[in-house]
Amino acid sequence: MNIVLFGPPAAGKGTQAKILTKERGFIQLSTGDMLRAARSSGSELGKKVAGIMDRGDLVSDEIVIALIEEQLETNAGAPGFIFDGFPRTVEQAKALDVSLAKRDMAVDSVIRLRVDDNVLLGRVTKRFAEEGRKDDNPESFKIRLGNYNKQTAPLLPYYAEKGRLSEVDGLADIETVSKSIATVIDMQKTGRDMVKIPFWKRLFGRR
Ligand code: AMP
Repeated sequence: MNIVLFGPPAAGKGTQAKILTKERGFIQLSTGDMLRAARSSGSELGKKVAGIMDRGDLVSDEIVIALIEEQLETNAGAPGFIFDGFPRTVEQAKALDVSLAKRDMAVDSVIRLRVDDNVLLGRVTKRFAEEGRKDDNPESFKIRLGNYNKQTAPLLPYYAEKGRLSEVDGLADIETVSKSIATVIDMQKTGRDMVKIPFWKRLFGRR
């Protein structure tokens, strides 16, 4: 099962993705983490994206799509993927659909963490104190939020039209949010299994 965790910066996507990897063995694919790793390694890619990331802008679709493609290849056979911070543009979403389709997979569920913009700045300030991420400052954050509203939020109707979108309250505490996400996943999983079992078999209780 492949899940996109959706929401603005500091909505809690990374935290929830980590819980899902622990509880369900899914593989977390965070383009932000991949880009930060490229920076720490001092690679050409890292050097290329450093300034863009610190400013709070999006790196090119081409770069992140290539990173995801590489990870899908490396982790072929995983029980599921959690996309965290990807896709962030309609172009990326379309590329992901193609990439997964090539492997007989699809985005099964998009879970939006609904949050209030006013609490995000507080979270980012706290994260800066804990992790020292350069883009967790008020100026970059404003740009990141602006980019989210302009380039990423248009993905909501894209996935809603496909019937994949669900929402949970991202303002609740971590455990409550993770329980809400688990409920969404389990309901969708049951729905998919029901479709796989022919109606008459379900009716007579045969599997
Ligand atoms: P994140 O950790 O997801 O907040 O990402 C940190 C930064 O990495 C973003 O502000 C962007 O500069 C870059 N980035 C991460 N994921 C993407 C993406 N899918 N598309 C473009 N830029 C990205």
